[in-house]
Amino acid sequence: MNTKLYLHNTLSRRKEEFVPINPPHVGLYVCGPTVYGDPHLGHARSAITFDLLFRLLRHHGYKVRYVRNITDVGHLEHDADEGNDKIAEKARLEQLEPMEVAQRYTNRYHEALRQLNVLSPSIEPRASGHIIEQIALVQRIIDAGLAYQSNGSVYFDVAKYNELHRYGQLSGRVLDDLQANTRALDGQDEKRSPFDFALWKKASPEHIMRWPSPWSEGFPGWHLECSAMSAKYLGQQFDIHGGGMDLMFPHHECEIAQNVAASGSGAVRYWLHNNMITINGQKMGKSLGNSISLAELFAGAHPLLEQAYSPMTIRFFILQAHYRSTLDFSNEALQAAQRGLARLQSAHRALRKVQPAGQSSVEVGAIAQRVHEALADDLNSPVALAAMFDAVRIINALLEGKERIAADDLARLRVLFDTVLIDIMGLVDEQQAQGQAKLVEGLVDMLLGVRQQAKANRDFATSDRIRDELARMGVAVRDRKDGADWELV
Ligand code: ZN
Repeated sequence: MNTKLYLHNTLSRRKEEFVPINPPHVGLYVCGPTVYGDPHLGHARSAITFDLLFRLLRHHGYKVRYVRNITDVGHLEHDADEGNDKIAEKARLEQLEPMEVAQRYTNRYHEALRQLNVLSPSIEPRASGHIIEQIALVQRIIDAGLAYQSNGSVYFDVAKYNELHRYGQLSGRVLDDLQANTRALDGQDEKRSPFDFALWKKASPEHIMRWPSPWSEGFPGWHLECSAMSAKYLGQQFDIHGGGMDLMFPHHECEIAQNVAASGSGAVRYWLHNNMITINGQKMGKSLGNSISLAELFAGAHPLLEQAYSPMTIRFFILQAHYRSTLDFSNEALQAAQRGLARLQSAHRALRKVQPAGQSSVEVGAIAQRVHEALADDLNSPVALAAMFDAVRIINALLEGKERIAADDLARLRVLFDTVLIDIMGLVDEQQAQGQAKLVEGLVDMLLGVRQQAKANRDFATSDRIRDELARMGVAVRDRKDGADWELV
């Protein structure tokens, strides 16, 4: 692959050629979910955006170490150092051990991502499993003189940091303006300034999740885990850090400040942020009643939904927009996505039937080039998909006998669909997969019928052979009184 890859770096605010620190290795860190609720469209957009990046980097020949964390210490999303611990709150309500809550929603997140055909990261560290690393990082920031203790908690001294380095380089915010516009928050009396953020928070008596530390029994600040875990698994400097745009401030801004305070320099070369999903033009939120979980989308079980939408429809819908644009969810938009994906996939299936004939009257190379250039141009999936639809028109013309294609061009067209649609965009053919599953089911049932007949005829050699060969293919057969059950193992 010799197409150069360009990525829009939030830090420099421009598109840059991607050059890894230590090629062919690439370190990629993406902020994962806070596991106290069902995964929703916002989770899907971030997961699919960085899945596309992960797949594309691999397609370009890079060896990617992809780290995506699980936030199971349960912080509020925007006021990491204020308010209640959400996981503990949920645990109290449902009378569960907090780790049961975290595990339940982690499982649901994994299941939704599996349905969306999102590849697993190389490492998926949990915040609760890295308390030691986080305590060590707090100590380094204290030693650097950029954090202070207050009543058992430790806060990052933003004003002092801002004198030495500039706070706000990622989000473009300026500390003086921030301070002028801040309202007083609870717990502020412990801090020297409202913009100081917690590195370690002393636990109140009713707080369930707590760990011992040199400062108090408590829990780490939310921003800390990503600095600690990215450094542990990707090193002091690494290539790409991603996340949703809502994490840019304060989460990622604070992460940069922590990294610089602890090690003298920023850790990340390229910061990438995906934009948000709105629902019928509105921001998504529980309080607005428009927060649709992925399970509800797949089942069509929400008052805002006119029908169920398959995981691949959701994936295609997300890929049809550029990751840095906002994306508005509506039934019409999803229904259009469903139709578009069906056209693309039926053309892909029909491509198997196309026969080569003489010289090509169609141009395949130029389309393939447009697709790959678009993807390498800051993951421009909508432009890449538009070029794929030009290929769909060619396939339809070939099927109607209006055009001809030479053998080498036909092979190229097949490679384009297999590589781009399946490998890079991860759009598997659900209809085909369902058809195959039905076929497997029918064949196994038929074989078990033959086996049943053999047993009735006391032909145990045949009956055992069928059972053993099925077992070798991963089909476990369990005999019952009146027949047999089977499952894939
Ligand atoms: Zn993070």
